[in-house]
Amino acid sequence: MSKVLIIGSGISGLACAITCASRGINVILVSPFPSERSQSVLAAGGINAVLTGEDGDSIEQHIKDTLKGGCDIAGEKAVRGMCSAAPDIVKWLESLGTVFSRDSGGRISRRAFGGQTYPRTNYAGTATGKQIVTALVMEARRLEGKGLIERRYWTDFYGALIRDKICYGAMLYSEATRSVEAVTADSVVIATGGQNALFGKTTGSTQCDGYAAGKLFSQGVDLKNLEFIQYHPTTIETDRKKMLISEAARGEGGRLFYEDNGSRVYFMEDLYGAKGNLMPRDIVSKCIYETGKQVYLDVSFLGKDKILDRIPEVYELCMKYRNIDITRDPVPVVPSVHFFMGGIAVGLDHRTNIKNLYAVGECASMYHGANRLGGNSILAAIYSGRVAAGSIKDEKTDSPDWSREVSEENGKLELKRRSESKFPVMYVRGMLADSVNSSLGIVRNACELENGIKDIDYYLGIADKINFDRSELEYFTYSLEGILILAKAVLKSASERQESRGAHLRSDYPERSDAYKASTIISYDGGNYTAKFVKEDEYEG
Ligand SMILES: Cc1cc2nc3c(=O)[nH]c(=O)nc-3n(C[C@H](O)[C@H](O)[C@H](O)COP(=O)(O)OP(=O)(O)OC[C@H]3O[C@@H](n4cnc5c(N)ncnc54)[C@H](O)[C@@H]3O)c2cc1C
Repeated sequence: MSKVLIIGSGISGLACAITCASRGINVILVSPFPSERSQSVLAAGGINAVLTGEDGDSIEQHIKDTLKGGCDIAGEKAVRGMCSAAPDIVKWLESLGTVFSRDSGGRISRRAFGGQTYPRTNYAGTATGKQIVTALVMEARRLEGKGLIERRYWTDFYGALIRDKICYGAMLYSEATRSVEAVTADSVVIATGGQNALFGKTTGSTQCDGYAAGKLFSQGVDLKNLEFIQYHPTTIETDRKKMLISEAARGEGGRLFYEDNGSRVYFMEDLYGAKGNLMPRDIVSKCIYETGKQVYLDVSFLGKDKILDRIPEVYELCMKYRNIDITRDPVPVVPSVHFFMGGIAVGLDHRTNIKNLYAVGECASMYHGANRLGGNSILAAIYSGRVAAGSIKDEKTDSPDWSREVSEENGKLELKRRSESKFPVMYVRGMLADSVNSSLGIVRNACELENGIKDIDYYLGIADKINFDRSELEYFTYSLEGILILAKAVLKSASERQESRGAHLRSDYPERSDAYKASTIISYDGGNYTAKFVKEDEYEG
């Protein structure tokens, strides 16, 4: 029986683990924290799937909306596969115990999300992610009981075991022993989520920092479409995070406005008519940015009963963090970094350009093109996990011996531990976040991107001199260089795309250009970053 090592235990890692185990493949599933603390549990609004086709909706329309939302660069084959599998995925989730909300006719409840022609976001209150993770964890535990899955926590990715473009496993860092070990496997699946922590305060989890993608890039793995960073239009600022006001609030009818001489201007409706508030996120964020004003979200006219029934978490969030009662008053909102359309480049089978190495979920780039539609991400995470699991060959691979490499890396860690010179690593991570936020705002230009690259080059110059800070996890220091390399790849990709499309808006190239109607593939070779443009369905690794 072959063995697969899955790194990351959110929705995509769990879906992949369960599907592999169901095929009789042995799984080791690793992450720093249990699945119940992954970013996936934050998913509030729901999962897209056309379940009944009532009201005129169809799988074909789901495909069309997804391709249009992605601004014509998502691959049709991939999107078709995902949207066609969506109804089965929802049924599968239900069979594993996910409890969806139901309407008065007994059907799974669905709401409208941005960019949809018909409401097709199926939900479990405003806790869809939590419900799904709970069901998947129960199934993983059942398969663990059968000896097919082994779950390991307090374990971080350190690097892949790659030789001659073949992956043989990964080096993993144990927070308990503070050392690395080589774990060999016949296939490796990366499922480490987005790049939130690179940007400091975002709506997402700080566990997701893009380190795995950056480290793999430095080991020869291609990355894709990194410049497409989704700003969610409605968040509220708190000390440590940007808290998401789910799109469900606008799906239920919430309206955006700003004030001008004491009158409300419902700018999205003025620009796009009745469905204006539910335009795709890239468009709403851009419009908020262009108002140059404080924008508010109003749901009070829905009435207290409906608010508490349909969007109770939004009510609680605004009370808790802003002391605003949304059943009476509007809440001030700002767009914030939320989701990453870019990530590890994969083909239709989710294999990377390295043999036996796969990537799934938000860390992989597929399905969303230049902008993701709300509700398509959990779907993509589950679908990609299942596709990768289905394409992994149940074959044994003989691994070379890695003891020399492991001992070298443990030696480097020990040197960092012993060194007298201490530099606060979180301070550098803070400066890095400031640099990427100023260079990669909702609208960017060549000068800002160039300044960002200069900043990163400076931090890269000092990265290996930064030793362990005893008050922080060693992970934060050893991962710094990989995160910096990723940041530079994002900035380079954004510089190369000299047009405005979806979530990549440039003040110096404000128009969409057919010359860039493709995905950006970026590769790393001995310190050189090389970008090229490839049609999505044509990338094979
Ligand atoms: C507030 C919020 C609300 C959202 N709402 C929705 C919604 O309603 N509908 C929707 O479709 N999408 C939604 N999304 C997006 C969606 O939740 C995510 O895209 C999706 O859950 C990603 O799943 P994943 O398995 O790829 O990653 P994650 O759930 O982020 O899991 C990543 C895993 O990798 C681990 N990991 C990270 N780094 C390392 C490392 N270096 N070494 C080892 N392990 C590592 C983590 O600990 C974790 O276990 C929302 C996102 C946010 C932030």
